[in-house]
Amino acid sequence: MLRKELNIFSFNDLLNHFPYRHVDKTRVDAIASIKPSLDYAYVAGTLVSLELITSGKARRLVGMLKDDTGIVELVWFQGIAWMQKILHTGHKYFVFGKPGFFMGKPQMAHPDIENFSMEQSGGKAWLEPVYPSTEKLKAKFLSGQVLAKFTKELLTKLSQKDLSENLPETLLKTYKLVSRYSAYRQIHFPANEEEYRQALRRLKFEELFFAQLRLGQIRLQRLRFSRGQVFDKVGNLFHEFYSHHLPFELTNAQKKVLKEIRKDTAGGKQMNRLLQGDVGSGKTMIALLSMLLAADNHFQSVLMAPTEILAQQHFESIKSYLGPLPVQLELLTGSTSAANRKKIVKACESGQVQMLIGTHAVIETKVKFQNLGLAIVDEQHKFGVEQRAKLWEKSTVPPHILVMTATPIPRTLALTAYGDLDYSILDELPPGRMPITTYHRNERARPQVMDFIRKEIAKGRQVYVIYPLIEESSKLDYENLMKGFEEVKAFFPEPKYWISMLHGKQPPVQKETNMQRFVMGETQIMVATTVVEVGVNVPNATVMIIESAERFGLSQLHQLRGRVGRGAEKSYCILLTGQKLGNDARERMQIMEATRDGFLIAEKDLELRGPGQIDGTRQSGALDFKLASIVNDKEMLEVARNAVEAILETDPDLTKSEHERLKNFLQQQKSKTRWSKVG
Ligand code: ADP
Ligand code: MG
Repeated sequence: MLRKELNIFSFNDLLNHFPYRHVDKTRVDAIASIKPSLDYAYVAGTLVSLELITSGKARRLVGMLKDDTGIVELVWFQGIAWMQKILHTGHKYFVFGKPGFFMGKPQMAHPDIENFSMEQSGGKAWLEPVYPSTEKLKAKFLSGQVLAKFTKELLTKLSQKDLSENLPETLLKTYKLVSRYSAYRQIHFPANEEEYRQALRRLKFEELFFAQLRLGQIRLQRLRFSRGQVFDKVGNLFHEFYSHHLPFELTNAQKKVLKEIRKDTAGGKQMNRLLQGDVGSGKTMIALLSMLLAADNHFQSVLMAPTEILAQQHFESIKSYLGPLPVQLELLTGSTSAANRKKIVKACESGQVQMLIGTHAVIETKVKFQNLGLAIVDEQHKFGVEQRAKLWEKSTVPPHILVMTATPIPRTLALTAYGDLDYSILDELPPGRMPITTYHRNERARPQVMDFIRKEIAKGRQVYVIYPLIEESSKLDYENLMKGFEEVKAFFPEPKYWISMLHGKQPPVQKETNMQRFVMGETQIMVATTVVEVGVNVPNATVMIIESAERFGLSQLHQLRGRVGRGAEKSYCILLTGQKLGNDARERMQIMEATRDGFLIAEKDLELRGPGQIDGTRQSGALDFKLASIVNDKEMLEVARNAVEAILETDPDLTKSEHERLKNFLQQQKSKTRWSKVG
C-alpha cells in the first residue's frame, strides 16, 4: 500500500519521506479564530452531528465540530464508509487541516482526525511532523499521523552509525552544517523551528552537493578518457572564408565562442558543448565556421535542425555564405526525393559530402559517414543522451557535439540539467539591431491593431500573426487558426494583400511554398501556428502579433518575438489576450513588455512555472530533488557547485582520506541497499 501510493518501500525511503510542515500541537486554535488566510488550523471539539448528503450522484459526508467558541464544518467526498465507521457523534476529536470557507462559514475538507486524549491536550515538548499522504491511504487510516509514528519508531532504533556522515569534516565546518544523523532526526522531529531550519539546510546542501559531484565526475570522466577527433589545423577553407567571404565582422561574443570551440576540438578530447545564444545572436555563423574547421581537417560534419523549413533555410543561407568556395554541401530531409536521397547517402558514405544539413532524418535513417567529425544540433536543447549515443554509433571515435539553443536556460537549471556539458554563451547581439517594442492589448483593441498592421504594410513591411497550437492534434486550435485566417483576410482582402498560412498539418511542399512566398515578400502577412517559432529569418518582417498570448509560456513568447527585429527597421510585438487574465498571465505580459533579455525571461519562466515545465528538463534529473529547489536555493547551488569544483580539482578520483566518505556514499548510492521492507 505505502509502496504503491507513495513510493515508499524501505526504511530509507520512509526516512526520506519528509514532512511538509510541523504543527505546534501544544497550541489548539479556537474555532472562532479560523480565517481564510490560515494555512492550516488545529482545533479540538465535539462532533455534534454527522450526516450523509446526497444530491444526484454526488455524495458527501458532513460533520459539525463544536468547541466553546464556534462550529466548523468537516466534509468528506471519499472514504465515506470508513469515516462513518470510525466517527461517533458526541465524541471529542482533534482535527487538523486546511480551512476553507463555504458561504461564509469555515469548513475543512478531508482533515486529519485524531481521538481526543487528555495526555495530548496536556501539552507537548515538540513540533509534530505533518506528512504528505494520499486519499487512499487516509481511507485506510494510514494518515500522516501513522507515518509519523512509523518514522518516530524507526528513528529510535537508528544509531549514529546507521546514518553515518557523508560530507567531509571541513565542509561541515566551513558551511556550519549539522551532522547527517542530527539532520534526519531534526527534520522529522525538531524541538523548535531553528532545529528544523538547520536540518533542512543541511539536507538540501547534501542533495545539491552530491548531484553536482556526480555530474562533475561524469564530465571529468569524459574529458579524461574519451578520445575525440583532432581538428588541429586552421586551413585554407577557413582562412579563405574568414578573410574574403565573411559578410560582417564577428561580434566579440562570437569570437569568444569560436575560440572555445577551437580549443575543444583541437585537444584530442571529445567536445560536448551547449551553446546558448539569444534569438538573433548569430549562431548559424558559429555553426558554419566550426564546420569549415572540420572540413579543413578532412572531417565531415552534420547540422541538424528541428524542422524542414529551418533545415531548408540553413541550407540556403550557408550555401550563400559559402559562395564560390569549393565545399560539397548537401541537404537531406524527409521530403528529399528517393533518388536524391540515395545519391546523397552514397556520397556521405564515401566521404564526398563535407557538410550535410538536414532534419533529424540524418541520424535516424541509414546515413553512414566516412569520417564524421562534428555534429551540430540547432535550436534544440532536448537533444538527449540517447540521441547522442546514436551519433556515436556513426563513428568509432565519437564526433564533437555542439548543441545550439536560443531558449536561454537559467544558470541554475544549466548547472543541474546539463552540468556534464561544457557551455558557451553568446551574450551579445550583432550591432545595429533595432529595438522591438512590445505591447499588451486586449481583444477589444483588435481594430486598432489591424489599422496598425495596415500602416506597416503600407511602409513595405511584413507581419506575422501567430495562433496557439498547443496540441498538434487539437481540433479546436485548428478551428481557431482557420477562423483567424478568415478574419485577417476580411481585414486584408486580395488582391491588394496576400496572406500565407503555415501550420503543422500541411504537407511539406505546401509549407515550403507558403514560407517561400513570405520570404520573397510576395505575401505581406503570415498567419501561422508556432511552427515559425524557431529559427525562421525574414528581416523585412517588423510586426509580430500573438493571438491568445496568455496561452503561451514566457520562453515561447520570447522565441516568437525573436522572429522580428532582424532587419534595419523598428519592430513591434503585440500580445493580444482576453480581457480577463489570471495573475500569472498578467505577470507574463508585463515581463514581456518590460524586457528583451532572454536570460532574465528564462529565470522568470522558471520561477513562474517551475522546472518541470521547462522544455527538456523532465528527464534530466534536475527535478529529482526532494528538498532543494533550483528556484529557491540558487545561492546554495552555487556554493555546492564551488565546493565540488574545489574538491575535484585536487582529487578527481576522491582518493584522499578526507574524501573517503564521499566516495563511499557514491558507491553506496549506486548499489542502493534496500534495507528491510515496510508496509
Ligand atoms: P540565431 O542565433 O537566432 O540563429 P542567426 O544565426 O539566424 O541567429 O543570425 C541572425 C541574423 O544576424 C542573420 O541575418 C545573420 O546574418 C546576422 N548576423 C550574424 N552574426 C552577425 C554579425 N557578427 N554581425 C552582423 N550580423 C550578423
Ligand atoms: Mg538560428
